[in-house]
Amino acid sequence: MGDDGAEGEAPRCVGCGRRVRTLFVQYSPGNIRLMKCDVCKAVADPYIECEFMIILIDLILHKTRAYRHLLFNKLHIGSSLDKVGTIRYHATSRKCCSTFSNSLTPTQLGILCQFILMHIVLDAFRISVSKNNKADGDSSRSTLSTICNCSEVLGDALLGNIIFTAMLLLGVRYILKFSFDITRYRQILLAIIISSYFKLFLLTMMVWEFPSSAIFIVEAFVLSSNVVALRVVTRFPKAHCVGVCFMAHAAKHLTERWLMWTP
Ligand SMILES: [Zn+2]
Repeated sequence: MGDDGAEGEAPRCVGCGRRVRTLFVQYSPGNIRLMKCDVCKAVADPYIECEFMIILIDLILHKTRAYRHLLFNKLHIGSSLDKVGTIRYHATSRKCCSTFSNSLTPTQLGILCQFILMHIVLDAFRISVSKNNKADGDSSRSTLSTICNCSEVLGDALLGNIIFTAMLLLGVRYILKFSFDITRYRQILLAIIISSYFKLFLLTMMVWEFPSSAIFIVEAFVLSSNVVALRVVTRFPKAHCVGVCFMAHAAKHLTERWLMWTP
């Protein structure tokens, strides 16, 4: 059982998703040899030698290999999720669950908090753009009303994200049938939040003007990226992951619409 902990931290082959002992062997600084996967016989993680832009392009192209590299080998998400698969596939006893508890590392927790904050701010910006589109021409506002408007938009974004998280976790619980484990659910949430990186595109709307349809395109891209990330970390069929992500996004969208039209 001593190997279990080490195996839980082991990296993964980006091709097949299986665990590998190591991704590379370093002979001297800058001189490494990439290791091959024992299962698929391909290089376990060729992205180690790639520039960030190559990885980003593959992420934008929704390549599961790039998502595995980012989520498993860079952020080390999924060690507790892996145990779910092991438990499900081998139908071992429930006692195993207690030995499989794995908490988020401080780095993962820091990333999770930063990304949640960024999400809420970007959503608030998106909602304010939609509101301004709805009521354009009303430019003469006092400072007090601007502050009230900002806090209202932030509140709407916060509520939208709470609904999104709740629906996502309910989907994971009842559609993917993951037993409740706070660490496991936090790792899924982290994977979903990281895969929403395309939301950063909204920042460009602060500088340049885009049609309002650009917001819809960004949201559609974030949804599809969330599906890939959920499929990578849970190894469930695409249809299940689409169902969970679509339900969460739809609930968030409807909540925001309802808040927007409520005086
Ligand atoms: Zn492999």
